[in-house]
Formats: sequence, C-alpha cells, structure tokens
Amino acid sequence: MFDLKRTARQEVHKALRQGKIIKPQICEVCGNDRMKRLLAHHPDYTQPLKVKWVCDQCHWSFAHPDICMKRSIKQKQIRKDKRNKNKV
Ligand SMILES: [Zn+2]
Ligand SMILES: [Zn+2]
Repeated sequence: MFDLKRTARQEVHKALRQGKIIKPQICEVCGNDRMKRLLAHHPDYTQPLKVKWVCDQCHWSFAHPDICMKRSIKQKQIRKDKRNKNKV
C-alpha cells in the first residue's frame, strides 16, 4: 500500500497554511475545548481535505474503535505478562 495516510496529512497541513481549511477550537465529537491538541482524522484518506477535528481521546475511542480495542487488549496482555513474571 502506498502512503495515502502521509499524503493526506501533508495535504491538510498545506491547506491549513493556505487558509483553505480552518482548524476549530473544539472537538467535533465531544465538544471538548480544553484539549490543546486536536487531531485531523481522515474518515477517507482518498479525500485528504475531508477531515474531522477530534481530541486525542475521541480520536481513539470514536474514530478508531478497532485500534482502540487492540490497544487496550495489548495493554491488558502486558499487565498479565508482568504479573506472570512476578509469580515466577
Ligand atoms: Zn473529543
Ligand atoms: Zn484518525
């Protein structure tokens, strides 16, 4: 697979610089305005300028639930491994 993701991100940065798209102050999902870091989430990487601005938290739980799940499973597994190590 060629690097669609990276190209899409570069396109967003370019468009931001040129003022084609404006980064909002609040998360589009939860409306959180305390998060300093909003991420440009691409529902479709073939449309680089179609982005959703979400906070870090929503980016995982809302935009990438599959990755979010994998992550927590991985973390649980790490915790389990640690516990097992302690036993031995
Ligand atoms: Zn949010
Ligand atoms: Zn995303």
